[in-house]
Amino acid sequence: MESTYPGLSQDEILRLLSTVLGVCREGVSITSPEGNIEWVNPAFTAITGYDAGEVVGRNPRVLKSDRHDDAFYADMWRAISETGHWSGEIWNRRKSGEAYPEWLAITAVRDGSGALQRYVAVFHDLTDIKRDKDLIHQQTYHDALTDLPNRFLFQDRLGVALRNAAKSGGLLGVICLDLDRFRAVNDSLGHRAGDLLLAEVSRRLTPLMRQADTLSRYGGDTFYMLLTGLREPEDAAHVAGRILTSLAAPLEILGQELRISASVGIAISPNDGTDPGQLMRNAEIAMYTSKRSGPSGYAFFTEDLGDRVLRGLQLENDLRKALARDEFRVHYQPRVDLLTGSIQGMEALVRWHRSDGSVVSPAEFIPLAEETGLIVPLGEIVLEQACRQARIWADEGHAHLKLAVNLSARQLEQPGLVDTVMAILERTGLPPTSLELEVTESLFLTGFEQAHSRLSALTVMGITVALDDFGTGYSSLSYLKRLPITTLKIDKSFIGGLPSDQEDAAIVSSVVSIAKNLGLEVVAEGVETEEQLEFLKALDCGGGFQGYLFSKPVPARDFARLLARETPGTEAGKP
Ligand code: C2E
Ligand code: MG
Ligand code: MG
Repeated sequence: MESTYPGLSQDEILRLLSTVLGVCREGVSITSPEGNIEWVNPAFTAITGYDAGEVVGRNPRVLKSDRHDDAFYADMWRAISETGHWSGEIWNRRKSGEAYPEWLAITAVRDGSGALQRYVAVFHDLTDIKRDKDLIHQQTYHDALTDLPNRFLFQDRLGVALRNAAKSGGLLGVICLDLDRFRAVNDSLGHRAGDLLLAEVSRRLTPLMRQADTLSRYGGDTFYMLLTGLREPEDAAHVAGRILTSLAAPLEILGQELRISASVGIAISPNDGTDPGQLMRNAEIAMYTSKRSGPSGYAFFTEDLGDRVLRGLQLENDLRKALARDEFRVHYQPRVDLLTGSIQGMEALVRWHRSDGSVVSPAEFIPLAEETGLIVPLGEIVLEQACRQARIWADEGHAHLKLAVNLSARQLEQPGLVDTVMAILERTGLPPTSLELEVTESLFLTGFEQAHSRLSALTVMGITVALDDFGTGYSSLSYLKRLPITTLKIDKSFIGGLPSDQEDAAIVSSVVSIAKNLGLEVVAEGVETEEQLEFLKALDCGGGFQGYLFSKPVPARDFARLLARETPGTEAGKP
């Protein structure tokens, strides 16, 4: 270095430079031509952890990490001897043992005759910069909530895996997983609970993946998985099965016990697609098929699935139009007193009368209406129609009849539900005590507190609540006791086997005795034969029954005829 500085003496220059070396953040070391450290600055100590006393006289080799091979150092020294200089990124090791990256510049210092005097090494610690870079990479390619790869990384890996599979001819699977009723958790327990739930799901799924597989949270409650090296498509089904099992165990979120499930769709390459977009779309289509057939299941993509999805979209579209066109009619099925055989009330069951004259059963469109949220306006239409009709029959001398209307869990999630029901009762003039709402056990899945408070508000008005399809869902006796339920409806699947099927007989008998003990009324659904009726009568439960034995659900006019049969004379003379 040329040591002239305008107006300064040699001494002053030296002092100035030594101050600079003392405060700069770059580590500096000076070594002899033989390679022994002669001097280091304070930043050297701060970065490497070695005091001057610990390194002076030693070879800089003490800083060497094992991250570079011999060729790396040979190249470095060749550059220094040929050009007098080398700079680059290098990993060294601190006194603590920690390896760290630095930017290092080594310069050979020669005297006037060209003889080597010293080496000067100046280096900058890159640890923080690297960490920031890694963090940015992590944030760009990972999901902040679960730390899993995000959609960008997933698509990237899927693309690479597909190219590899194309070369090797291997099978590759994409799984699309979507939690069932996740929205309900978010709505009823709050977003924090939703976040915790997603993190728990990721913890459960991670151990099910093999090293080469990728699990990704794609967004919301949707996860994708890439399965490589499948021997046969069935391998993916095994993974799907393990996923469903691992999610089935109850979990606790913010002090609430929850049960969750997921719907899983599987697409296999090359059969179901050879590019990432297509494969993921087909896995998603399969997932929706599985969801439609009920919670907690998996489905493979099949060729005609694509067509069916189109048909589903068509149905949804038709359903929306049908709401606007008022194509829904309520039918009524009598609920009959088991002992006296007289009509106690009726269940309102909706029918879709399409413009082409066909009638669609609710089993076909209610699940879709629930999935799309259309059940909310549809449910209101049914409730209003049924209440208006019940009020007419009450005015005709049948004020004792109890009207039962099905209430979907999606409706119960609506904040305005209680007001809506109240407004409909007011508009139609039906007393609240004439109305029973049938809920299913699916509402226990989430938001017990919310279900509890809404149902309580309804019962305070005088409405009663029945638990529908009892025994098919997540029956929990403690819920039965804690919710304001007055009636248990035994699902028709248990009545069907009576009286010969011992298992059904045992289930029905115990449900009846549970109901008796809890002071609940029992209604048996789907009674089709005299033998079934006799079995129920013998249980002495004093409740009611519905079923084809007495009558199918019928239009209002036909129901009026059934009523007339009971009170001869009222309908006399009418056709
Ligand atoms: P659910 O509430 O359990 O209604 C009983 C179902 O059993 C009705 O089917 C009824 O027609 C049928 N059923 C009655 N007696 C017998 C019998 O003796 N044998 C057999 N095999 N079946 C019998 P439906 O009308 O097709 O309704 C199916 C389901 O759709 C209902 O089950 C209910 O969950 C839902 N649903 C119907 N209407 C509505 C509605 O307005 N709102 C909501 N949320 N759900 C509805
Ligand atoms: Mg029902
Ligand atoms: Mg039922």
